Amino acid sequence: MTEEINILKPACPKCGVSKRIPIPGSVFSQKSFGLIKIQVPQGAVCEDHQFIVIADNEARIIGYEAIDVSVSKEEEELLPEMESEIKFPLKYLVHKLGFNSVAGLIHAKLFKYDSFIIRSDESDISLEDLDEYFDNMIPEPYNNSIKIDTISYDDEIFPNPGYFYSLVTNQKTKAFLFNPRKHIVQMPWRTNIYYETHIVNYALERSDPKEQIKVISDSIVRFINDAEFAKTILDNVKKISEKDFMKTLDEKLALTTINKYRMTLIKEFLRRRISVDLIKKIKK
Ligand SMILES: [Zn+2]
Repeated sequence: MTEEINILKPACPKCGVSKRIPIPGSVFSQKSFGLIKIQVPQGAVCEDHQFIVIADNEARIIGYEAIDVSVSKEEEELLPEMESEIKFPLKYLVHKLGFNSVAGLIHAKLFKYDSFIIRSDESDISLEDLDEYFDNMIPEPYNNSIKIDTISYDDEIFPNPGYFYSLVTNQKTKAFLFNPRKHIVQMPWRTNIYYETHIVNYALERSDPKEQIKVISDSIVRFINDAEFAKTILDNVKKISEKDFMKTLDEKLALTTINKYRMTLIKEFLRRRISVDLIKKIKK
């Protein structure tokens, strides 16, 4: 009998390199509930870093922990004096919050999830600047619809951060939670953030902060156009099979390949942003 293999595709919390790694199904089936932590050694996903991926028993990535988070001098060099209206370069933000937190914040903003930074001290990035940065990526009327918030963590009252995080996840079950140490405490969605990971990496190839925002927002505008077109199809049918729905979209949307993953994102957008009833028209 061949053993089932699950493919995880984690992205390094520090540099964003991502790679598919096969994990034997037995790792997940040993636990009937709870979370599985998988230590990714240096070299397994990216050349330079090791980290921990947290997955649920359906092999879905729900969090990350970085290992060896030290504040380096290069951080200062990442934030040059800037004249532009964009407050910081993407690389600075990735360095400050972690790659997956940045990708996760795009997901949260685009699909309208609450998000909270769990932190113990004042950060040098204000929430206002952070909101503005991400809202710049998202077109009207979908921008400015949800604000990033803070949960303050007092390590004198809660010396064990793990305990504090579990209190917070129990209370905020539907929110995206992360801390500034590149640690993702909870991703509340069931979709993988491959799309966001991809566009962040793509934007990082540019050096101009304005251009970085532009490549991300161009991609998001295209995605929203696809989703709005999908809405018009559903508006005009009583019921449609998933297969026909995908086929119609693929035929009409010349610029996009509609694969299963894109479909999942479109459905999530319609469900979170437009109407849950619309999604019920799609039959398996
Ligand atoms: Zn790395």
